[in-house]
Amino acid sequence: MLESDVETRPWEEQLALDDAAYREQLAYLLARSTFYREKLGTAGLATAAEAGGLAKIAGLPLTEKRELKDTATSENPIGTHLCADTAEIVRIYSTSGTTGIPSYIPLTARDLDDWVTGSARSYAASGITAGQRIVSTYNAGPFVAGAALASFDRIGLCHVPVGTGNTERLLRALELLRPQAAVLTPSYAEYVVEAAAERGLDLARSSVERVLVAGEPGGGEPAFRARLEEGWGARVTEAMGIGDIGISLWGECEEQDGMHLGARGFVHTELIDPETTESVPLEDGAAGELVLTHLQHQAAPLLRFRTRDHVEVRMTPCPCGRTGPRVRCLGRTDDMLVVRGVNVFPSAVRDVVGTFAPRVSGHIRVKPEASGVKQEPPLPVVVELARGTELDADLAEAIREKLRAVLVVQTRVELVPWESLARDEYKGQLIERRI
Ligand SMILES: [Zn+2]
Repeated sequence: MLESDVETRPWEEQLALDDAAYREQLAYLLARSTFYREKLGTAGLATAAEAGGLAKIAGLPLTEKRELKDTATSENPIGTHLCADTAEIVRIYSTSGTTGIPSYIPLTARDLDDWVTGSARSYAASGITAGQRIVSTYNAGPFVAGAALASFDRIGLCHVPVGTGNTERLLRALELLRPQAAVLTPSYAEYVVEAAAERGLDLARSSVERVLVAGEPGGGEPAFRARLEEGWGARVTEAMGIGDIGISLWGECEEQDGMHLGARGFVHTELIDPETTESVPLEDGAAGELVLTHLQHQAAPLLRFRTRDHVEVRMTPCPCGRTGPRVRCLGRTDDMLVVRGVNVFPSAVRDVVGTFAPRVSGHIRVKPEASGVKQEPPLPVVVELARGTELDADLAEAIREKLRAVLVVQTRVELVPWESLARDEYKGQLIERRI
């Protein structure tokens, strides 16, 4: 454990520390953030004392990504949530953004240090230790992932960056440099298993003992994970960050039963129902959208930020000794479909379909017919067969039946031959909407 005194601190003690930090953070926001002064003012709050502590946080307004973007201008391209002076900002990342205009994420030196500290705890939870080699496959560029890479130095690893989409370079590094760990997106981890097999390489016999997946949901799904573990001959654990809040905030330990909050002390966690935005108590088994609040951020702290990540919570003690809630990401709320009142995540569909390996390749597309969230059954699902598997009506029926039994959703399963679905080497696309 990187910082056992922090990571095993009784959760009640952590919450007491967080409560004090939160009150200071609120006072800081009211003093420095035009955005939050207006937002909290509209909610009838002018002082931090009126807002109270963490026990009353659910009464404060939520922050949407869109609202932050809307305040950006050419004079202040970051937005009115910027709190720090220009001279204090040491780094500005941007998000990929689907609308063309990036949103900027500024950090002070302390913010950056907190990010790296939290990320280092999260990655170290996987069991990788100082002196080992880790190969990474991120093209960090303008994106926050760059800071995650700094956490490998913090752990004391030898970091071998090979970049995204260069599978030859990756396979060569595995062969020649013999790293103990690899970090990549779950989709790419899956792609590499196929790519190695095509070259006649047995990835399961490589030096890699740990595969750390991050960057998209799905790495925690049992059947998908089992397939990755078999293909790599390695233990798979996942990590998760949220661009505007922090990198690799969460990281899974060797128990593989959900991600611990590596960024404890830096962020506060809540759950809400994404439809009603009502607060959901943080109890064992609870599920909802993750809402995060910075506790000691300086550059552009966020209050009750909607992450759009739908998670399930574990509150039972973890044998590793780390305390606090653990989460498993079920998917993006943006990808969530509601079919006759039942929530369906494309990554969960992939997981169920994956149990039909080796007859299926593991690649799927969910193709909702209606725009928006609500769908009428049956939900169309395209399932790619494994190499050499014949189209088989009985198999389609068996998949349809299992999806109904496990996810309680009626589907229409269409089987397609091997390599019919496009592979993305960075992040997998599981949902395809008609424009
Ligand atoms: Zn643990």
